[in-house]
Amino acid sequence: MNTLPNDNKNIHIEIINTGSELMLGRVLNTHHQWLALQLDELGYTIDRQLCINDDNLSITGAVRESLSRADLIIVTGGLGPTSDDLTRNDIAQLLGRRLLVDSGTIERIQNMFSRRGTPIPFNCEIQAQYPEGALIIPNDYGTAPGLAIEFFPNLFRKNQQKSFIILLPGPPRELYPMFRNSVIPLLRKKFPFASAHKLLNLRTACTGESSIEKIVAPHLQYLVKEGLQIGYCARVGEVDFRLEASGQKADEILKQAEQIAREKLGEIIFGTGTQKLEEVLIQLLTQHHKTLGTAESCTGGFLAHRLTNVPGASAVFMGSCVTYSNDFKRQLLGVQSETLEKWGAVSEQTSIEMASGMRTRMNLDYALSITGIAGPGGGTPEKPVGTVYIGLATPEGTFSQRLYCPYERESFKFYVSQFALDWLRRTIIHSLNP
Ligand code: ATP
Ligand code: MG
Repeated sequence: MNTLPNDNKNIHIEIINTGSELMLGRVLNTHHQWLALQLDELGYTIDRQLCINDDNLSITGAVRESLSRADLIIVTGGLGPTSDDLTRNDIAQLLGRRLLVDSGTIERIQNMFSRRGTPIPFNCEIQAQYPEGALIIPNDYGTAPGLAIEFFPNLFRKNQQKSFIILLPGPPRELYPMFRNSVIPLLRKKFPFASAHKLLNLRTACTGESSIEKIVAPHLQYLVKEGLQIGYCARVGEVDFRLEASGQKADEILKQAEQIAREKLGEIIFGTGTQKLEEVLIQLLTQHHKTLGTAESCTGGFLAHRLTNVPGASAVFMGSCVTYSNDFKRQLLGVQSETLEKWGAVSEQTSIEMASGMRTRMNLDYALSITGIAGPGGGTPEKPVGTVYIGLATPEGTFSQRLYCPYERESFKFYVSQFALDWLRRTIIHSLNP
């Protein structure tokens, strides 16, 4: 993906994620991606990211190295009360700051435990310690607060500007709200942009990145000459198309670019920012008071899982049948024995009977069905592993599409469900604007 360098050239950002569990592969380092996405949304780019063990030497070494370059260092993990939580102490020592105790934090932790009716841990005081002069970042979802320390880095390099080091706890449910509520306002204040920086992420599904580029890029060339940056980020079943601009004309450039992209890509764009396809579909169904049910074979309920991840889905998503066997397809959905015998469970006819069975039996506006061969076994020359039929029953009739998705099971399920969601989204849009 193309990214803009920070237009405030002074900001050099480094991220340090600590934790032996990350180094052993027991926990995936999701902080890196999450923080990078958040910073990118704000217009900042990370220059370096490091994942390290949580021992004194690793922490001190990594932070010392970053201090020699970075204006902003974000360190995650190791703020808890146990013996492997060393970050706070190590960084205080490195910066030559005394550790003080924040009585407000002790009180907050004590209240938290007494509300739960559990005894206060003997070592909770450790988490109330902070290097002298640090700003305490409140933690409403856990015990350890975060810390922001401002300092002159001239000990580590020649620089007259102040630098910042921000420490955040490891658990995502604590880190995410702290970053959103406290760190973002702090960054905006401490590292404002010299000029406006605008970005827009357009989300698309089930169209390849080369196709997207071909459709839209030639029409944006004149804006690229004016400073527009475009980027593509492809994942299974989706491509993010990014538009960025900085400087005085940023607003105008981005406005024009968005207009052109929307005109050329049309319904290929399903949303913006970090919106998910299932969220958009639930919103669309809700707006138009339409109901949906699903009948799934090879995706094993994954489509229903994605739909039920959306808050408020119950208003429009009525339910699902996971009909893996022929018997289930027959008894729950009314698929005909003759259909299964003549065409097989993975066939256009079966997908149609599954969808229409779900729709009529449950009295729904729409029903989606999925039947296919996820593999690795079960393929034939006519229907190789990866063959899928998706059925869509609508008030106008029932339709089926054949797909070929020779991916491993997880990507297979995602792609197939993505295709089904997008097909229904487009169908509803068409039925509203024939
Ligand atoms: P605690 O008080 O829970 O000990 P802490 O600030 O000391 O918090 P860690 O002990 O480093 O944080 O991590 C706690 C848990 O948070 C880890 O076991 C892991 O589940 C999760 N975690 C930590 N770092 C990451 C990361 N980079 N990505 C994803 N999860 C993480
Ligand atoms: Mg810990």
